[in-house]
Order: sequence, then structure tokens, then C-alpha cells
Amino acid sequence: MDAGFSAVVDPLQLAKQGKRLNGQLALQALPRLAVLSCNSAVGKVEVDLQFSRGEDQQNRVTGSAGASFDVICQRCLGQMSLQLDSEINILLLGSQEEGVENNDGIVCKGKMPVTDLIEDELLLAMPMFPKHRAGDCKIKREQVKSAANGTGSGSGSDKGQKTSREDNPFAVLAKLKSGQKSQNQKKDSRSGKKAGKK
Ligand SMILES: [Zn+2]
Repeated sequence: MDAGFSAVVDPLQLAKQGKRLNGQLALQALPRLAVLSCNSAVGKVEVDLQFSRGEDQQNRVTGSAGASFDVICQRCLGQMSLQLDSEINILLLGSQEEGVENNDGIVCKGKMPVTDLIEDELLLAMPMFPKHRAGDCKIKREQVKSAANGTGSGSGSDKGQKTSREDNPFAVLAKLKSGQKSQNQKKDSRSGKKAGKK
């Protein structure tokens, strides 16, 4: 593991000492995040955590966690790099506080992997459908639109149509919807077909 610090820590002890952990982990140290990558061997996780005990005697870890790794763009199915950033602010509870109901807290029973403190936070920052930024994606919005209208543009319309159909099931809905608005006759014949199939 590529950690600039010990990967297994005692959070309560670190809070008592006011320690700060700052370093880098391999993405593979966070298995639940790593499975979302298409190339998990090269992803990195940056960690900057400040452990502290407040005046209220509550132990906390605050700071940030960031992960950069490759995923598949859900629009064009090409590879893209994704950057996740998460703010960390977690209440550290001793095992005697186990019964305390607190959504922001985790119960610490001695030593635990640092990754337990950050993996959930990074998973929450993960977009459900990662996509390139509009200008970077191989599939342009106009292509998706024209494929949805069934007209296709001159170049590579076969590929564009195929991909957009797999990629965007809502294109079909949009087509039906626009048909309903403006072309009542066509809509009738289409819904007739549909009903016939069922
Ligand atoms: Zn893309």
C-alpha cells in the first residue's frame, strides 16, 4: 500500500494527540470504490485528516479526501478520468457510546483502517452516471438529438444511432412525446402498433 502514513490507526488516540494524517493511498485500498473504476490499478486517493478533541470533549476527524481514477462515460462508453472530492467531518465515538444514535458519528473500537473513515464519504460523492463534460464527450448532444429523431446526420449515423439507443433509453420516450404533440395521426398508428404487440 502506497501510504504516507500508517494505514491502520486508532482514531480516538489520534484525536487525543491532535494528530494530522496527510498522504496518499492506492485506490485498491478502497475496494468498494475500486470496483467502480475501469482501471483500478492506477487510481489514487489523497487524504488530509485532522484528528482533534473539542472543548466539549467530543472527538472528531475533519479534513478532506479526494480520489482520482478512470471510469466509463455513460454517454459514449469511452474512458474518462473522474475526480471525487469529499469534505470529512465525522464524530468519533468510543465503544461505551455505542448506543448513541448519531448519523454523523462512527464507533471506534481501537485500531481501524484509515479507509473506513473515508470510503463511505467518497462513495457518496460518486455520480450515479459519470459522463464526460459536454465538450469532451465523443457523442455530442446534437448527435443524440438527431439520432432520437430518426434522421441521423451524414457521417457515422449508424454508429451514432446504435450507441445513443443503448446509451439513452429516454431518446425513445422523447421521440414518442414529440410525436404526441405535433403528429396526432402518426401517434395513433404508432400506439396502435404498440397495443397490437402487447
Ligand atoms: Zn463520453
